[in-house]
This record gives sequence, structure tokens and C-alpha cells, in this order.
Amino acid sequence: MGVNIELYRQILGVLEPAQVELVAVSKVRSAEEIMQLYNEGQRDFGENYVQELVDKQLMLPVDIRWHFIGHLQTNKVKQIAPFVHLIHGVDSTKLLAEINKQGKKHDRVINCLMQVHVAEEPNKFGLTEETLFDALAQVTQTPLEFSNVYIRGIMGMASFTDNREQIRGEFKFLKYLFDKYQSMASSNCALKTLSMGMSDDYEIAIEEGSNMVRIGSLLFGRRI
Ligand SMILES: *Cc1c(COP(=O)(O)O)cnc(C)c1O
Repeated sequence: MGVNIELYRQILGVLEPAQVELVAVSKVRSAEEIMQLYNEGQRDFGENYVQELVDKQLMLPVDIRWHFIGHLQTNKVKQIAPFVHLIHGVDSTKLLAEINKQGKKHDRVINCLMQVHVAEEPNKFGLTEETLFDALAQVTQTPLEFSNVYIRGIMGMASFTDNREQIRGEFKFLKYLFDKYQSMASSNCALKTLSMGMSDDYEIAIEEGSNMVRIGSLLFGRRI
């Protein structure tokens, strides 16, 4: 088993011409495994546990762009604020305000994606269309209050199901929101990134307009 370099190259061969960015999801993987992809040129890695991310960031090359893709608790923002490249799972203005506060402390503008809930599972986090609209309205109408965050786009996760049409429908809805709210832009908000698609559904996601996929198990092997 181990890291599947052949498949990594194959996937890049599909993503690069389509201008889709790849975040290699390295949660629970070792520094050695991450370095195997790093040595292939991969620089974007995604983690979803704060402590694990902090530990890995300390021991791995400084030019890695770390994506936080998990559910972020307000009280943990300060641990990743000094270095995180993109926070995918912003699901409230309260969290956004805390990210902004920590960004200010470190004199950084922190990139964020707003997470929208589209899956049928209730345990997946995220905003509804209405709360997404409210959050974007607040950020774009009072940009000075949010000058240390930059809303780069939208992130979502489809249902965990074999029903491909359901998954497709959920991705279509994310793309619809992404297009619809393009007009809500300001000095700290421009929806350019649509982060959707994982190992089992990234091909559907790309067909539906994704431009950033988050892939773990296809590259690193199944998590046990
Ligand atoms: C784990 C995880 C992924 C990657 O999942 P795979 O099925 O291993 O590709 C992508 N996005 C999020 C938010 C995750 O937690």
C-alpha cells in the first residue's frame, strides 16, 4: 500500500488541464507520507484536526500551503491563525469574527471559504442559503470590520451515498449558489473558489463546476 504516486500523477493529468486545484487530504497520515507527495511537487495539503495540523506544520517544509478542512471551533482558531493558508469550513459569522480577530493579531489576512450544508446527513456542518446570504451581506457591507479575512469562495460536502444523481444534485446546488452570489463582492470578498469533491465523487464535482477538490484516500490509501 502506501502513497499511490502513479494515481497522483494520473489525477493531476486530469485536474491541471481543467484548472482544478488539488488539496491532498493528509489527515492521519505520517510526515513521511506527506513528504512523498511533496517531493512530487504537491504543496497544498488539507487537515481537519487542529492539533495534528499544528504538529505537522512544525515539522514539515515551510512552503506547504496548509488547508484546514474540518469543523473549526472558535477557541482553536488562534492555534492555526499564524500560518493557515485557507480555512474551508467557515459556518458562522461568529467564527468569521474570531478568524478576523486572530488574523489582526498576526497582521495577516486569512483566506476563508464559507461552508454550505447540502448533504442529507444532519451531522454535516454548514450554512443554509439564507445564512450564507446573511454572512456575505455582513462581510461585504462592513468590510472594515472584517479586514483581516478574505472570503474566497464556497465549500461543501455531498451526502455519503451510492446515489450518484443525488450527489450530482447537491453539487449542482452548490454551483448555483456560487454563481448566484458572485455579485456580493467587496475588498474582502470575491467568490472564486468552489471547493467540492472528494475521493469518491470528485469526477462528478468537476463536471458540476468544482475548481478545487480535496482528495485523501485515493492518494494515501484507505484510512483504517
Ligand atoms: C477526509 C476529508 C476529505 C477527503 O476524503 P477522502 O474520501 O479520503 O478523499 C475531504 N474533505 C473533507 C472535509 C474531509 O474531512
